[in-house]
Amino acid sequence: MRKKQFKAESKRLLEMMVNSIYSHKEIFLRELVSNASDAIDKIYYKALTDDSLTFNKDDYYIKIIPNKTKRTLTISDTGIGMTSEELETNLGVIAKSGSLSFKAENEMKQGQEIIGQFGVGFYSAFMVADEVTVCTKPIGSEVAHEWKSKGADGYTIKACEKEMVGTDITLKIKENTEEDNYDDYLDEFRLKAIVKKYSDFIRYPIKMDITERKLKEGSEDEYETVIEEQTINSMVPIWRKNKSELSDEDYVNFYNEKRYGYDNPLKHIHISVDGAVRYQSILFIPEQIPYDYYSKEFEKGLELYSNGVLIMEKCADLLPDYFSFVKGMVDSEDLSLNISREILQHDRQLKLIAKNINKKIKSQLTSLINDDRGKYEQFFKSFGRQLKYGVYSDFGANKETLQDLLMFYSSIEKKLVTLDEYLSRMKEDQNYIYYATGESNERIAKSPQTELFADKGYEILYFTEEVDEFAIKMLGSYKDKEFKSVSSGDLGLDDETKEAEIQEENKELFDYMKGVLNNRVKDVRASRRLKSHPVCITSEGEISIEMEKILKTMPD
Ligand code: ADP
Ligand code: MG
Repeated sequence: MRKKQFKAESKRLLEMMVNSIYSHKEIFLRELVSNASDAIDKIYYKALTDDSLTFNKDDYYIKIIPNKTKRTLTISDTGIGMTSEELETNLGVIAKSGSLSFKAENEMKQGQEIIGQFGVGFYSAFMVADEVTVCTKPIGSEVAHEWKSKGADGYTIKACEKEMVGTDITLKIKENTEEDNYDDYLDEFRLKAIVKKYSDFIRYPIKMDITERKLKEGSEDEYETVIEEQTINSMVPIWRKNKSELSDEDYVNFYNEKRYGYDNPLKHIHISVDGAVRYQSILFIPEQIPYDYYSKEFEKGLELYSNGVLIMEKCADLLPDYFSFVKGMVDSEDLSLNISREILQHDRQLKLIAKNINKKIKSQLTSLINDDRGKYEQFFKSFGRQLKYGVYSDFGANKETLQDLLMFYSSIEKKLVTLDEYLSRMKEDQNYIYYATGESNERIAKSPQTELFADKGYEILYFTEEVDEFAIKMLGSYKDKEFKSVSSGDLGLDDETKEAEIQEENKELFDYMKGVLNNRVKDVRASRRLKSHPVCITSEGEISIEMEKILKTMPD
């Protein structure tokens, strides 16, 4: 039997492939399982158009068989199989995708589920195997063929024995090296984890014999080792299910299974869009702040799936920084992937999805304010700071999106209120939204600057976080009402003319006081804002006393 050579280009490509395209060796399993799923899809598709074929779902599955003694891993499917010619063209020519041709020949509409398109995934097997054997029997034929290759130096094809239609791909797993523990790919536990990670939502059962120690029947302390064939993938992704079929508990389970956080979700958002770009998404707002949330280590991002297959674990482009606390996933059939299926080709679709998701998160948070105030407050206590950062970062580009979501403690309501709520309670003669800064609500409430306002029945927003005033300065105003600090020199109150008169009458006294203070103050003025306190300090211009303190502690 003559050994056939890969085409020269193919040879180079194969070497490149094995060594550089994929960032994780374990994805070979994702690729082989995806191919197996494609092969079953093809039978399914043929059965749709050919009356002589029936498709009984139970007959179709993928099986993963590790063999530690022989050091082999077999991925077996009951799919469409390949003729010897197909073996030659599909596996002998790298970058030739039989699946892509299949889609074209059958004029399949976009959105049909077949995953393959690049014609390279199969060769990722050589990242973990010294030798790959493909034994395959095509549908409608009595003969089976075997394709065998050790990698770059070519392949052989010969007739072989195979009972059932379908394909068995057997990898001779490499010996361990210092960098890589190839034994992993013979280990039930690891294999199961890899399947769960990348291929959990392949629509056909992925089976494996799982060894388990179980209590002997009827016994209370005697164990036995049993081998049981189990289906290890969940098959139907929860995000493809109808919202009405799902309970809150299903979403919580999904959140926990996916380990999006160690807490429970405060709220879930299930999106299914069938517009210019199609996608499904399940998003979660966590109950608690992740321990590393406000640190550099925290990485934002959503899981990105293409047609049910995991492409990226943390796609950062899907979330703006101010919503970086959101967890979850997006699945789209409309993404342009690059050859390794790890990076996206161009991100037009992704941008559309990101924009869309952003809107949904905003509207869901807004409705939470009205429908479940307690939950919103809980959310805001955890992530409000991030929203305020969002208002003042990017030169205020996001303030429109975020201003309605802000909350501050109110001197009158004695709880967090939104800016809209503040406006609704403003007094008729009140021109500004007043705020006071300080270390704590208690201290602000006792400060001399707030007395007059309490007297007038004006509401004051208490700013106790450093970011508060910076965010507000960036907003400038809310629905045409400007913000004003209660410690600013000019309070914008109607009765300030009187102050000017008193100022004139007592000019000498004030000049004297300024002298005694050795010019450490800019001015000494009469004020009507005080009730029980003799004096207070105020500031002038844009920067409040609190802000000044913060700015002074910042490095230049
Ligand atoms: P892609 O999946 O992108 O087409 P691959 O390199 O993964 O590229 O596979 C190349 C081709 O080999 C596939 O398009 C398909 O025609 C064929 N093939 C691979 N695995 C199988 C399989 N298990 N059963 C049938 N055909 C297969
Ligand atoms: Mg493939």
